[in-house]
Amino acid sequence: MTARAPSRRRTPAAPPGQADLFAPPPSAQEPPPAPAAVPLPATLPAVADDLWERLSRSRFRARFHLDAKDRAYLHRQGLQSVSGHAAEFIATRLAPAHPHKDGRQTPWRGHPVFVAQHATGTCCRGCIEKWHGFAKGQELQQPQRDYILAVIRGWLLREDPDCSE
Ligand SMILES: [Zn+2]
Repeated sequence: MTARAPSRRRTPAAPPGQADLFAPPPSAQEPPPAPAAVPLPATLPAVADDLWERLSRSRFRARFHLDAKDRAYLHRQGLQSVSGHAAEFIATRLAPAHPHKDGRQTPWRGHPVFVAQHATGTCCRGCIEKWHGFAKGQELQQPQRDYILAVIRGWLLREDPDCSE
């Protein structure tokens, strides 16, 4: 071990109640933008109509809908950008063989993709296995990630056909 840092801090912490001057400006209405570092595939696999029929028969899944805030966000960001967020969520929160906090990794609200995930059974690995047949405990491969992205995007388009690219 090297010497510990001196306990005396060069820059004192802001006293409680004082805003951090270096913090980004607060945006009360907007959900935090997800980093869209994951490239989107040029084409997405087709989603069978059968899936939408099965989902509509689930009382739990069918009760999820975008609210006004989700729609405003979707229209402001555009479907392509929001799909990039979805690809990022899939890669980081679902694709690992054993995702962190699996079963609780998808908030109920705060981003249109979260709502779409609960509506389509793509919220956690248990739901993905049940609804889409991709076994738990194995890393999701690219075609499987693309399929989940196609399902989320398909649901967003069905929910809000006017959302732009
Ligand atoms: Zn789930």
